[in-house]
Amino acid sequence: MSDVAPRDFIRQIIHEDLESGKHDEIVTRFPPEPNGYLHVGHVMSICLNFGVGQETNGRTFLRFDDTNPGKEREEYVRAIEYDVHWLGFDWGERLTHASDYFDQIYSAAEKLVEMGVAYVDSLSADEIREHRGTLTEAGRNSPYRERSVDENLDLFRRMRKGEFADGEHVLRAKIDMASPNMNLRDPALYRIRHIDHQRTADKWCIYPMYDFAHTMSDAFEGITHSLCTLEFEDHRPLYDWFLDQLNPPHRPRQIEFSRLNLAYTITSKRKLNMLIDNGVVAGWDDPRMPTIAGMRRRGYPAAALREFVRRGGVTKKDKLIEMGVLENCIREQLGESAERRMGVLRPLKVVLTNYPEDKVEMMQAMNHPNNADLGTREMPFSRELWIEQDDFLEEAPRKFFRLKPGGEVRLRFGYIIRCDEVVRNAAGDVVELRCSYDPDTRSGTGSSDKKVKGTIHWVSATHGVRASVRLYDRLFTEPDPNSVEDFLSVLNPDSLETVDAILEPALRDLQQSQAVQFERLGYFCADSAEHTADAPVINRIVTLRDSWAKIERQAMSSSALS
Ligand code: ATP
Ligand code: MG
Repeated sequence: MSDVAPRDFIRQIIHEDLESGKHDEIVTRFPPEPNGYLHVGHVMSICLNFGVGQETNGRTFLRFDDTNPGKEREEYVRAIEYDVHWLGFDWGERLTHASDYFDQIYSAAEKLVEMGVAYVDSLSADEIREHRGTLTEAGRNSPYRERSVDENLDLFRRMRKGEFADGEHVLRAKIDMASPNMNLRDPALYRIRHIDHQRTADKWCIYPMYDFAHTMSDAFEGITHSLCTLEFEDHRPLYDWFLDQLNPPHRPRQIEFSRLNLAYTITSKRKLNMLIDNGVVAGWDDPRMPTIAGMRRRGYPAAALREFVRRGGVTKKDKLIEMGVLENCIREQLGESAERRMGVLRPLKVVLTNYPEDKVEMMQAMNHPNNADLGTREMPFSRELWIEQDDFLEEAPRKFFRLKPGGEVRLRFGYIIRCDEVVRNAAGDVVELRCSYDPDTRSGTGSSDKKVKGTIHWVSATHGVRASVRLYDRLFTEPDPNSVEDFLSVLNPDSLETVDAILEPALRDLQQSQAVQFERLGYFCADSAEHTADAPVINRIVTLRDSWAKIERQAMSSSALS
């Protein structure tokens, strides 16, 4: 038996439960409802549940909460399995479904009926709502509440056989219609739904409600710690009530923690689905989506996501984490591993007037500044080059160390060049720079001691590869779009910009999903769906520096969230 470092309150509890001998094996579960793709909030729950399992040599189930037929789809099930694996976790044999336990859950319900603590109610849904009362007003008992056990059992069995229409009856727990906790006012346990289930087909026409199915599934699987988000805190008395009544051999304990919220995005499957339905994004795996599929396609490494939730911790306090925290985790991860390349996002032509027309030199370029093991590559250098439009300023301030008329700059792994002449089109836009190069300044030769302050990136015009590069920005303009009534009204209209970029020829070998750093620009990755060698499609994963940090902190300190 191994132990777990008590680095948060949940691991502290688990640590104590192992120390005291209350449990000798820890069993947890991640219980997604397959009604959408997983998002960054789920990453936290996955890392917590599977993490605790790993750290204690325990077991963790991946259990689909499939009690809501009609809303659930096989596509989501497959996506969820893929995502959990991709994040680096393995459920082994422990892939289950709430529907695997439908027989047992049904038996447990019959038992509650036999014990006289569950009854079949025949009020309509509206009447039930009306009897429930409000937060300040006690509810009223249903006129059907005192049916005999025999009558209840008979009705419940006939519900199962399909003798009644949807909504005609419902099985309810008999707890307390005056409880200040609404969840205890005779909650529904089973409802009639004549609808096929994706796994059990037409075997059932009654389905257990979430709270009941969830508690029972936890008990059947021998879950020791049932970890869920804070909105279930008020459901815990009901969770415990089921366990008290049925007294199963394994008694799980529910512990709640606060949800992970990420600034400038939303973490609700329902709202994410609305983004798709409204055509705001292209799908669940749009690289702007905070879904695991979107983040993977964007190029976020799994290790960076794990590190991100580790830094966020597990607490009971609501938190809205800055995007910068996630982006720093990504930069740290990719900074080590991603090879360096050059690409020009907004190209400006440079012609070296004193460089021979047909000459091509192969420049040695390091693939990584701090890791010689990653080797070098050759970059062709020729008379016509592309540089970044931003790297030239006609009316430049004194401290602008890139290219300006009459000024000099170093081309990385190339030569120092001087801008002699600016060429404009009829509209007056700068379309070309006529420059001269200094043949004594080739990088790595040390034949000249000329020094310039600025170094810029470039690509040979005759050798460059055209690529469609997608530059992503925040999806929303508000730090906490969840708190805005109409979250679709605070969309960032500039969350995607596509540019026609030119890349150095070595990038012809870029494979789908492969990440590289474009020097001075950021980390980029070849799109996993659309990229081909002939028509490259590249996603910007993240910029090199956190230009957002300051803006974001200011916006968040003035936002409603603490
Ligand atoms: P959504 O509101 O997006 O539908 P959900 O909680 O209904 O989320 P489930 O599929 O039921 O989604 O969630 C599976 C597990 O993930 C649950 O245990 C839930 O508590 C947890 N979870 C969901 N969202 C978050 C979040 N933002 N932070 C941490 N855990 C989360
Ligand atoms: Mg849910």
